[in-house]
Amino acid sequence: MKNFNHLLNKQELLIGCKKRNLSQCQWRPTGNIRATAGDNVCVSLVCEECLARTSVFLSELSYKNHEKILLKEIARV
Ligand SMILES: [Zn+2]
Repeated sequence: MKNFNHLLNKQELLIGCKKRNLSQCQWRPTGNIRATAGDNVCVSLVCEECLARTSVFLSELSYKNHEKILLKEIARV
């Protein structure tokens, strides 16, 4: 399974996950993606292991780089 842990930095992963276990966490997009002020895109993520939720702000460029896999993953559900 693809996970999206790389979208978050280590600290965000640790804070976000209820299990505090980076090797077990499987963050994936929830389907909630919205543009925010300043050309950022906010992507909501959920950890499939512990069901924690968080959101990550990506720059428009960074979002474009990930858009295909994000949308593909969301469509899979
Ligand atoms: Zn987790």
